[in-house]
Amino acid sequence: AKETGRGKAYAYVPELDAERKQIATLEGQLRQALARDEIKPVFQPLVSTSTQRICGVEALARWQTETGSVAPDVFIPLAERSGMIDELGMKILASSICAAAQWGTLGLSVNISPIQLCNPNFVEGVVALLEKEKFDARRLTLEITEGVLISNPDQARRAITSLKTYGIKFALDDFGCGFASIGALRQFGFDRMKLDRSLVWGLDDSGSGSGVLSATIALATALKIPVTAEGIETERQAEALGLAGCDQLQGYLVGRPMGAEELEVLILRDRQA
Ligand code: C2E
Ligand code: CA
Ligand code: CA
Ligand code: CA
Repeated sequence: AKETGRGKAYAYVPELDAERKQIATLEGQLRQALARDEIKPVFQPLVSTSTQRICGVEALARWQTETGSVAPDVFIPLAERSGMIDELGMKILASSICAAAQWGTLGLSVNISPIQLCNPNFVEGVVALLEKEKFDARRLTLEITEGVLISNPDQARRAITSLKTYGIKFALDDFGCGFASIGALRQFGFDRMKLDRSLVWGLDDSGSGSGVLSATIALATALKIPVTAEGIETERQAEALGLAGCDQLQGYLVGRPMGAEELEVLILRDRQA
């Protein structure tokens, strides 16, 4: 009886009710947007520090509604909670591959949710997609965050190992803002480390973070794991991270996330430069 009482009281708090309704509405809208193919990728250039040229792009999901856009930090977790992430993730992967097929040998990086990686059909699905689109697996990098290495290490390792046999590469995303160690990079067979932008931005404060930062990059490089620096917004950051040994830079300084057409113009200009 106590349970019911509490449940009822809970149900009648008007603000909570409104909040739950809002979430339910957003979930419904996401389901509809997904069915209508309204979740689409944009592409952010990755620039090589040695050649200063675009060497790849990261696909980032976007959801534009009639009233504005919803941030991926909102709709990705929502899709994860409500069983839509497998479908959403495969759609982003498919449309990114279709777009990137036109871009010569340019690398394509796509974010993968831990839930997708642990889905037993994931490996098969990715391989089937690459075959259908005749997309060279060696151009594809899947970006994953460290959480899944801790929560589901065996499943993660199995999926990574098996996709790597096809030539797909793996990047450990957001390195430096969690607990992932350089050791984990090797144990799971990562091909690249992506330094979280919080570390990059730490450079500007006092410079005290820069020792740890350059040691981290040096260690990864010594293990033959190349490092991408994320969130590069200033020339100063670009120079410091390049000098510290990052072979790739990503951030507003080198290019914002953009649509395929805008990117194609940028690629053309980049090749002529
Ligand atoms: P992320 O994978 O760490 O992606 C980088 C984020 O940093 C992107 O935010 C990008 O727009 C932003 N960014 C890039 N350069 C700069 C910069 O110079 N300054 C600043 N302030 N920000 C910069 P976005 O697009 O809002 O995505 C947020 C997160 O949502 C991503 O973080 C990723 O974890 C997730 N996400 C996005 N698309 C997908 C997807 O298709 N699948 C999955 N599973 N997750 C996705
Ligand atoms: Ca990423
Ligand atoms: Ca990241
Ligand atoms: Ca992130």
